[in-house]
Amino acid sequence: MTGSKSELQKVTVNRIIPFSSVDGPGNRSVVFLQGCGFNCRYCHNPETRGMCNNCGICVQKCKTHALSLADGKVVFEPDKCVKCDMCIKSCPNGSSPRTSMMDAEDVMKVVLRQVPYIRGITVSGGECTTYPEFLKQLCRLSNENMLPVLLDSNGSYDFSKDEELMDLCDGVMLDIKAWNSDEHKFVTGTDNDIVLKNLIFLAENNKLEEVRTVVAPEIFNATETVIETSKALLPYLDKKDIRYKIIAYRPMGVRSQYKTMTTPTKEMLLELEKKANDIGIKNTIII
Ligand code: SF4
Ligand code: SF4
Repeated sequence: MTGSKSELQKVTVNRIIPFSSVDGPGNRSVVFLQGCGFNCRYCHNPETRGMCNNCGICVQKCKTHALSLADGKVVFEPDKCVKCDMCIKSCPNGSSPRTSMMDAEDVMKVVLRQVPYIRGITVSGGECTTYPEFLKQLCRLSNENMLPVLLDSNGSYDFSKDEELMDLCDGVMLDIKAWNSDEHKFVTGTDNDIVLKNLIFLAENNKLEEVRTVVAPEIFNATETVIETSKALLPYLDKKDIRYKIIAYRPMGVRSQYKTMTTPTKEMLLELEKKANDIGIKNTIII
């Protein structure tokens, strides 16, 4: 590895999954960074959204004393943890005390243990573009090790303004959470102007690996979203076979107040997939 350790940015890493076959093509290591500006009703990793402020509430909930406070900071002892998730459930900030401060070299050391069994790295979150400098540092190290990096993003970062990141990463897997901006605001708390700008920018520049829409029927118009997203992708398919992944909302991991949202039927998902196919998007997947 190269680069001065002192120049590398340390970021909050929620966790690293050694192998995943659902976060991009092939087997990949997935790095989940902490922090996200969206507040999606169906968020499946709600504990990755906020930053810990060391309030100590979770420390009192931990029955195995895996958590303690020292000098005003939460200390986590993994050996004592039984993974009951009481800490995450009790956190008022959408955070977790079980995070680590890591720089790009620290992350690469963990990822390199999986070589040759992985095809690349996916950086997810939270929202990975919360840390653009870290992403560039990780991409440089990863490229030295012949491991392509994909970014899993909610689309809130203006990719058009970061040519260096675009050159270094292999592509972006972009969420289109709703086509209509008011609905997007209802689902996430934020409008989608920058998200739709990114959809076109990434497709034009051959950096759009995959688009994803989570279907939660009662909170936005999934039919309109799939149709309009498919139409927007169509002109760029001769450059790259962009995949459209249509994902069913499921209540697992979701915050309790949103667990009762309606899950889509298989028929509904198949119908949405057919609409995308009819428009000309052939590389579709429903999960
Ligand atoms: S993880 Fe949450 S509950 Fe625990 S100290 Fe941090 S902010 Fe407080
Ligand atoms: S998941 Fe681990 S750290 Fe969190 S409350 Fe349970 S035992 Fe304690």
